[in-house]
Amino acid sequence: MTRLSRAAILAVGSELLTPTRMDTNSLFVTDQLNRLGIDVIFKCVVGDDREELARAVRTAFDLADLLVCSGGLGPTDDDLTREVVAEVLRRPLSEDAELASGIRARFASRGVLMPAINLRQAMVPAGARVLANKNGTAPGLWLEEEGRIVLLLPGPPRELKPMLGMVIESLRERAGGFSLVRRVVRITGRTESQAEQSLQPLYAEWGRRTVPVAATILAALGQIELHLSARSASHADADAALIQAIDDVRASLGLDVYSVDGSSLEQVVGNMLVERGLRIGAAESCTGGLVTSRLTDVPGSSRYVDRSIVAYSNAAKTELLDVPAEVIAAHGAVSEEVALAMASGIRSRARVDVGIGVTGIAGPSGGSSEKPVGTVVVAVQTPSLARARTFRFIGERELVKFQASQAALDMVRRLLLEL
Ligand code: ATP
Ligand code: MG
Repeated sequence: MTRLSRAAILAVGSELLTPTRMDTNSLFVTDQLNRLGIDVIFKCVVGDDREELARAVRTAFDLADLLVCSGGLGPTDDDLTREVVAEVLRRPLSEDAELASGIRARFASRGVLMPAINLRQAMVPAGARVLANKNGTAPGLWLEEEGRIVLLLPGPPRELKPMLGMVIESLRERAGGFSLVRRVVRITGRTESQAEQSLQPLYAEWGRRTVPVAATILAALGQIELHLSARSASHADADAALIQAIDDVRASLGLDVYSVDGSSLEQVVGNMLVERGLRIGAAESCTGGLVTSRLTDVPGSSRYVDRSIVAYSNAAKTELLDVPAEVIAAHGAVSEEVALAMASGIRSRARVDVGIGVTGIAGPSGGSSEKPVGTVVVAVQTPSLARARTFRFIGERELVKFQASQAALDMVRRLLLEL
């Protein structure tokens, strides 16, 4: 029997070929298969069209020893996956009595007359194993052909996910017995090339280990992600290899590493505030509330967020945050003096432990040669420490705002580590 190692995924549905809907199922399926050591070597999105679908099924089935299809199992005319796959594999369809009576019963229990087309969902290709759908009507199907497997799953993610869960053990038994483990390390405070330069010697070393670790660096403005993966016959060995690699990264990049378990910067900061029993408030000018929005994206943030103030104008900074008008006049609204006064203002007004002040020029206008667009000053004040820093960010308005929020959260993190 072929050991499953190469999978193909077909996402079926014309809506997935429009700009309004995205195929996310294949990402979920890929993650689940990778955990079993099965690589996804091909994937494709195909519309609800008999010929296109048949061609895609043939191609994908040719390439892989496991084909996972999502979508197109519904009762309507454009739901073709079941019929087309049956045709390609030359399996006649016949009505499954148990499925048919289940569908009838579901309609009866709602007191609705069953439209005849719903019985399409009771049609099963010869030799298929039926997978019950706990969250919908379309059953899934498991087919085998010359040692290879075709899995048909419904399109709605809340139906697909539990159904894949039902067969994951069967897939594991048929997989090569390898585990592929992934971890993401998140980094702030350096550019991609700076990070890459420090990490390069590690890549070479990881490649020579008993369980080699592969690394890819992905950078966006304000955050860098290092994606690590390891494959081994033993899940524990793969895991251990990644843990060691993460230790190496920490040794090389120090406090610039803020997350090794997938958590976001706002989650990390939130956890630190909870652990220390501290509460926080932000005084935001150019970020317009983004820092607070991110802090409150985290469930349970009411434990440490009290309130924030968006003070865009100079008058607002004075009225709401007690920033002296003379300080603004003397140093300009975008200055370390004003940012510190904002941080101090929100701390005392909200009676919280940690105050953030952010002021800057998000652009596209408002810059000067001394303070160009992208100049942002972030200040953080705690009972015992106060710090301000001037940044020069690049990019459009939205990116400047994001980088400013990232810098503010990161300054809080670093300051809390020192407390
Ligand atoms: P149903 O019985 O619910 O109709 P189905 O298998 O026919 O099941 P589809 O009609 O193809 O499913 O898709 C239903 C919905 O599921 C789509 O409108 C879409 O929102 C979602 N969906 C389908 N495919 C995907 C996908 N690949 N990624 C994310 N969502 C998807
Ligand atoms: Mg559909």
